[in-house]
Amino acid sequence: MTTIGPQPKWRSWVESANSPETHFPIQNLPYGVFSLAEGGKPRVGVAIGEFVLDLSVLASEGLLSYDDKVFNQPTLNDFIALGRQAWREVRGRVAQLLHDADATLRDNAALRDRCLIPQRNVQMHLPVQVPGYTDFYSSKEHATNVGKLFRDPDNALLPNWLEIPIAYNGRASSVVVSGTPVLRPNGQIKLPDQPRPLFGPCRKLDLELEMGFIVGKETALGSSVPCDQAEDYIFGMVLLNDWSARDLQAWEYVPLGPFNAKTFATTISPWVVPFDALAPFRVAQPKQSPTPLEYLQHEGDHAFDINLQAWLRPQEAEDDTLLCQTNFRYLYWSMAQQLAHHTVSGCNVRVGDLMGSGTISGPEPGSFGSLLEITLNGREPLPLKGGGQRSFIEDGDAVRLTGWCQGDGYRVGFGNCEGRVLPARSS
Ligand code: CA
Repeated sequence: MTTIGPQPKWRSWVESANSPETHFPIQNLPYGVFSLAEGGKPRVGVAIGEFVLDLSVLASEGLLSYDDKVFNQPTLNDFIALGRQAWREVRGRVAQLLHDADATLRDNAALRDRCLIPQRNVQMHLPVQVPGYTDFYSSKEHATNVGKLFRDPDNALLPNWLEIPIAYNGRASSVVVSGTPVLRPNGQIKLPDQPRPLFGPCRKLDLELEMGFIVGKETALGSSVPCDQAEDYIFGMVLLNDWSARDLQAWEYVPLGPFNAKTFATTISPWVVPFDALAPFRVAQPKQSPTPLEYLQHEGDHAFDINLQAWLRPQEAEDDTLLCQTNFRYLYWSMAQQLAHHTVSGCNVRVGDLMGSGTISGPEPGSFGSLLEITLNGREPLPLKGGGQRSFIEDGDAVRLTGWCQGDGYRVGFGNCEGRVLPARSS
């Protein structure tokens, strides 16, 4: 079986995969879990142009060197657990089968009809069973902006921030797939002119534009991952919206960090872009000063040039409003450094663990990844296209993240990560 992945000049016989705008050309081949919209069991597929390629059918036909049981699953975990050699073999084989010169599927209409399904006819599911979710805080611009708003404008960045990839343990049970409605949380809100908190629906509901990586290889309790080997543990990446209740957060976060302000929902995109698909878009990360401690050092380039956008659309509106445009490459701490730090204590990670990047803000206005920063904690509302304005997210609003790497004539994209906010429960 070949292990050569798709090449930059390759084209597919799936015509829609050759559009310069599609997020899913042959150079991407992201994995997801889907079922037919009319019903049926969830299974593993790969996005190609406007279609999903059903890997369970390919495997049952003997076209992949793995048992179809691996792909007849409601999550990617069994496939991920096979390891990097298997990811590369399957990726290479799928690319070969979709290459415009390969006749195996191209000229077999009956098989093609069984394994190639229009995306509009499928329902996407949460792609991974997530054993643990950790959220980092790795954007210097974001940490600085939030420090100014929540604490002290003159000492926005706490002294530990430049030494530690700061993170907290999030809540895996409420990680949901794009399209899942998000219920506005209830909680404690402490108003400045009141001695005690009130209880009620969050009044400052926010998005956080993030990306997440999926851990592809477990570690043993007590062991740690060296920084220069940490990328071997990354299966792929998703878009991630770490919905945040700012008023709950401001009251509860001292001294242990956020809790209910973040636990009610975390939305991820349905397609997991393989780490190998991102290789052409590797770039240098921002210069780190001071030089990190030795266990956080790595040679070479460890950032990725991924264009990111967040959009908002009120329930009855016809237009999306662009909230921000930013880039994954702005992050101060790399994914490798995050994983090295996460395991340096001996904490083990598991296949499917989700590691959020933290809100990705850039240096310019217009590149801030949360409404907290965009509207200065609600003080300067953002005008909406088609009328109205927003300080924070209102009931009925849909928030959509999207992102892509720009290649020469193609895009390796992440699709959409979307959720609509529903009113809080009244009891
Ligand atoms: Ca976050």
